[in-house]
Amino acid sequence: MAIEPSRRGFLAAGLSLPAPALAQPKPTGMTRRSLGNTGLKVAPLGFGGRGTSEMGVIQRALDLGINFIDTGRMYQNNERMIGNAVRGRRQQVVIASKSTSRTRAEALADLDTSLKELQSDYVDIWQLHNKTRPEMVTGDLLEALRIAKQSGKARFVGITSHLNVPEMTAHMLKLGVADVMLVGYNFTFKPDVTRAIEAARRAGMGIIVMKVLAGGFARIQEKDPRYEGAAEWLVKILKQDGAITAAIRWALRNESVDTSAVCMSDFEQVEDNVRALSQPYSRADEQLLHAKLAFLAPRYCRMCGDCGGVCEKGVPVPDVLRFLTYAEGYGDFPLARRSYLELPEAVRQVRCGDCEACTFRCANGVRVRERLTRAREWLA
Ligand code: SF4
Ligand code: SF4
Repeated sequence: MAIEPSRRGFLAAGLSLPAPALAQPKPTGMTRRSLGNTGLKVAPLGFGGRGTSEMGVIQRALDLGINFIDTGRMYQNNERMIGNAVRGRRQQVVIASKSTSRTRAEALADLDTSLKELQSDYVDIWQLHNKTRPEMVTGDLLEALRIAKQSGKARFVGITSHLNVPEMTAHMLKLGVADVMLVGYNFTFKPDVTRAIEAARRAGMGIIVMKVLAGGFARIQEKDPRYEGAAEWLVKILKQDGAITAAIRWALRNESVDTSAVCMSDFEQVEDNVRALSQPYSRADEQLLHAKLAFLAPRYCRMCGDCGGVCEKGVPVPDVLRFLTYAEGYGDFPLARRSYLELPEAVRQVRCGDCEACTFRCANGVRVRERLTRAREWLA
């Protein structure tokens, strides 16, 4: 079904520029921000390491002033490539890595492998990855964070959370063990995520954001069957100059965001994004993002977490929708398929298209069942 531009009525309240910000717009630039109370100084535009397999792209980013790189054990050879890219200037770069392991022993073994791959005897930030409910941050894993920091293998520690950000930031503040958090944040999210980030930052936690591009979706071609036979107007919106950089400016104008993990695959993207920060978020950006939201509304999961655990057959809805976005939005089909294939066999066998039990309705308008069916068709 084509989505008409007139469906802009649902626009997120947080998208608009407040009047004072418009009165005195400030470019974000490649200045440095303090990463919470860590004492580290980072450029607001950071590099999502998994976005490229070319060492030269990372080096170009460093040359242009980016000094934060996000990577992880789960991104195959990415840590090794980054280790090679920063050789000779390791001290100037803040590297964050992460583990998805569920026990202390496995997580600490991951940390040792990360250090070997990065060719470094420390990582600046080490995180437990994708913790979306408080009970996922077990005592055993908290002990892993403590040991990692005490041993000096990790200078600072934290967790990452794709969804349920308000609850997870509040939980980690209560535990008091996270120096930083890496959280999903973009112009499609509700204001409660902004408020949660601001509260955590006020309390001294370093805030790193991911998913800034809300799926990217810039690879679309006219009549592309992957995008429902993309109409001309839609292609124009998604490929319009500035649609990507507007999303970056939107996220980084929030000064509670210390840095970001933005995937950039080539030199042009690095240079465009760095250049973009010399301009402030503007009314033109706002219009571009409004138009993009019309396309994203039924497709892009805002990671609020409301549908996590609702499926009686065990389908982790937000996770599967995220995997689909890796393929559709970012064009990273291998990561999408790899992530999907890590789901338990029983879950992969579930055919949402045949299911009559699904009564869940996404408050953000995502056509959940249709999207899950698509994910299975494409990734299974
Ligand atoms: S599909 Fe909807 S309800 Fe579920 S996590 Fe995404 S935005 Fe929230
Ligand atoms: S369509 Fe059925 S199987 Fe699929 S997520 Fe919904 S309840 Fe679960």
